[in-house]
Amino acid sequence: MTATATRVLVLNSGSSSVKYQLLDMKPDSAGGSAAGTRLAVGLVERIGEETSRLAHTPLATGGDTRETEGPIADHEAALKAVAAELSADGLGLDSPQLAAIGHRVVHGGLKFTAPTVIDDAVLKEIERLVPVAPLHNPANITGIRTAQALRPDLPQVAVFDTAFHTTMPEYAARYAIDVATADAHRIRRYGFHGTSHAYVSRKTAELLGKDPSEVNVIVLHLGNGASASAVAGGRCVDTSMGLTPLEGLVMGTRSGDIDPAVTFHLKRVAGMSEDDVDVLLNKKSGLVGLCGDNDMREIRRRIDEGDERARLAFDIYIHRLKKYIGAYTAVLGRVDAVAFTAGVGENAAPVRAAAVAGLEEMGLAVDADLNAVRSGEPRLISPEYARVAVAVVPTDEELEIAQQTYALVNA
Ligand code: AMP
Repeated sequence: MTATATRVLVLNSGSSSVKYQLLDMKPDSAGGSAAGTRLAVGLVERIGEETSRLAHTPLATGGDTRETEGPIADHEAALKAVAAELSADGLGLDSPQLAAIGHRVVHGGLKFTAPTVIDDAVLKEIERLVPVAPLHNPANITGIRTAQALRPDLPQVAVFDTAFHTTMPEYAARYAIDVATADAHRIRRYGFHGTSHAYVSRKTAELLGKDPSEVNVIVLHLGNGASASAVAGGRCVDTSMGLTPLEGLVMGTRSGDIDPAVTFHLKRVAGMSEDDVDVLLNKKSGLVGLCGDNDMREIRRRIDEGDERARLAFDIYIHRLKKYIGAYTAVLGRVDAVAFTAGVGENAAPVRAAAVAGLEEMGLAVDADLNAVRSGEPRLISPEYARVAVAVVPTDEELEIAQQTYALVNA
């Protein structure tokens, strides 16, 4: 890497999509921490279909978003198309200014507790974890292989969704099942959305004017997928997702916590197959299963029109959220802040208000005026008298991945 190499390309490869951002990590002129200026952002979706779409926004040049539609056969073709778009703006992958490529990798198991430079052994281990992340890790591996082929000389870094949660104590990470069976099949609670929980808990400490080591934070990452975490002094001590991202909160299309006996009941009584139950719990449950919509905006609109199903779905969502706030308050002992983040957490004021309503005895309250403010900045929404700060902290997983990647290749 040359001294001028300050750019990081962040790749988030899904099964049929690739999201990417090119960031410049040059320290700011005051000599502060890496700035993380976005030079380009984009998305390739519907890979493998006739109607693939690439949307590329060259932020560095201030140009408009360029959209192209047409078949993109696979991830290799997708990354080549992305590389061509970046080249068109003078930001090509062949640039000596590119320091590294940072890959979001969903499952890092127990082995990967920190961002890791990818070599053959690392790639093999990510492959070994496919059985516990069958939807995600294969796409991540394809993204890594393709990027390696395009720039074999460049450091490629894996940033794991699970890494932040590897600090969970054993009593929080283990399920109460037969230990030999659990160990033989690596069944335990891993947790996900780790880069978001890490970033948001740190930003929340910053908002309170404290060092992360001094504060206890409950992070509520409420997007289409949703998870909560209890972070004590900067270290995760519990999180709501488990072996897979199905456990925990009610989500857009996932059930979250459920009696596991429901699964064998469905197989025995309803004649459903393993795959049927998988699809039911992951794709047809949560808000969509309860009321037909998974977009919180639409659910609020229906509630305003008096729709009972939407109301019940909202109430179930909030009830679960409250239970986790209560549980994690008990786990942490002392809570300094509750931070809302991701699509719902950052935008849905009624969700924030309802989640802490009635929790005044626990020191939690929301100021209605502050809660109604729309902003892209981290902010407090609790009244001054409240013992526990309630915050809205926009997440930025790409920036976190870029920072971790850049720090590692400069270490
Ligand atoms: P994410 O997975 O973080 O991108 O979050 C996506 C979800 O955020 C959507 O499915 C919506 O439910 C929710 N969302 C996005 N914008 C808003 C908004 N303005 N108000 C309420 N919910 C929103």
